[in-house]
Parts: sequence; structure tokens; C-alpha cells
Amino acid sequence: MSIEDPTSFDPLERERWVRGTINDLNLRGILDRMDRNQKGELIIVDYKSGKAPMAKYKEPRFFALKLYAMLIKDELGEMPAELKLIYLKNSTIHTLKISEEDLIDVKNEILEIWENIKKAYKDDEFPATKNNLCDWCYYKPICPVFNDDAPSTEELRSINETIYDLKEEVEALDMFKDDNDIPKESPIGSKDRNKIQNKIKKIDPKKNCVIGFGITEKTIAKLRSADGLVVGSAICKEITRSLNNRQNPVTNVSKVVAKLRNKIS
Ligand code: SF4
Repeated sequence: MSIEDPTSFDPLERERWVRGTINDLNLRGILDRMDRNQKGELIIVDYKSGKAPMAKYKEPRFFALKLYAMLIKDELGEMPAELKLIYLKNSTIHTLKISEEDLIDVKNEILEIWENIKKAYKDDEFPATKNNLCDWCYYKPICPVFNDDAPSTEELRSINETIYDLKEEVEALDMFKDDNDIPKESPIGSKDRNKIQNKIKKIDPKKNCVIGFGITEKTIAKLRSADGLVVGSAICKEITRSLNNRQNPVTNVSKVVAKLRNKIS
């Protein structure tokens, strides 16, 4: 293999379950590989499908492996000597020697994170932080970073419960091949499938909407999560303004479109 010489190490274990408890925190994970090097030392190895960061940024990526090392030491009573991250995309290996002190640090760090999680849970406070993965995030349509009037957790819970109940009604209606067979005196006897589905569409916060007309520079930022926007007002206004000022409307409209696009990106 071009990444590492398979004869240079002895893979002790692959996909080993590791678990442990610190105070009231349960940790568990699957360690990709554990080797013994030629000196007989334990090496914790993890594969990454992505690209390696620059060497100067490598350290934070070892966080999970330090936790694995801590759990392995607790379980086997043997201190691992080194951590190894193998990045498959650009065939790069990053290594880090570790000491008992590193394990104490990582233990304190995970306990601090755990305390913060418990506090956030108690206060129901989970601030969203914009990051590179937002465009792939399932919650983007209801995330407060991208929506000025995103519903609160409580509102979302109630919305989800209502949607669940409505979907149950649709399922119950679908059990009848012919709507005429639905007993009129039953709880779904007077229900209309289309009306229920429209209701679901209307209240589902994950459902994006297509909005037309009345969209201006002032209002467009609020519509970031729409599937499509018809920006009539802003463009019409710009054409009228350009013609009145004897300017080229095409150039000016292009500028307006660029500006509007910026506001929703
Ligand atoms: S869209 Fe919101 S919730 Fe999703 S990753 Fe970005 S900030 Fe976090």
C-alpha cells in the first residue's frame, strides 16, 4: 500500500468496541484499529475518509482518539504510546505521541463539555453556530441562524405533534379503498384527505415555500429558506428608475439581482 507498509505493524484488533464511564458520563465508540509497533507499544489508529488538514491544524482532530486511548488504558491497564490518523483521500498519516498528562487533559475537557451539555439541556438553550456544513443540514429551514422567526423548541414540539396526529388521520383514511366505505359516525367520517394534507403543508416548518411578488431588498433576507423567489417588485422598480434616469436598465437590474442574491446567500 502506498499509505503504510502492512509489514511494519502488528494489527492487534480491528473495529474494537471501547466503552467506559467517567462520573455520570457514559462513553462508547468503535476503534478502527489497534496495533503494536516494533517496540511492542500500543498504537491507536483511526481511518478518515476525508482529506488531511495541514499539519499545523492536526492536533484538534485527535480528540476522539485521545478518548479512545483513555478508555483503552482504563480497560487494559496499558498506556498507548501513539495515536495515528490515516486520511484516505490524500494518503496522509498524522501521528501524535501521548502521555498520561494528555489523558488527564482530555478527561477534563470531555467533562467540561458534558457539564455544558447538561446545562444547555436544563436551560433548553442550544445556540446554533453557522458553519461549513449548514448547506447540508436537515434543520436549516427552521434554524434560527437562517430564519428570523424560527419556532422555539416548544413550538416545534407542538407543531410536530399536530403533524403526527394529522398524518395518522390520513393513514386511517387510506385504509379504506373507497371513501364511501368510511363509516360516517367514526372519528374520521367527516374528514377530507386533501384538506388534512393542505393543513400539514401549511404548518410543516420544514416545508419551504415559493413566494412571489412584493419582494424587495428589505424583505428578501427573511425568505432565505424558500425553494424559489419571484422578485417582481425590486426588479420592476429598478427598470422604472433606470428608464426615468435614462440609464441602462439591464446593467442596473443585474446589479440589483447580485445584491438580492447576496442577501439570501
Ligand atoms: S443550519 Fe443551523 S442547526 Fe444546521 S448546522 Fe447550520 S447553524 Fe447548526
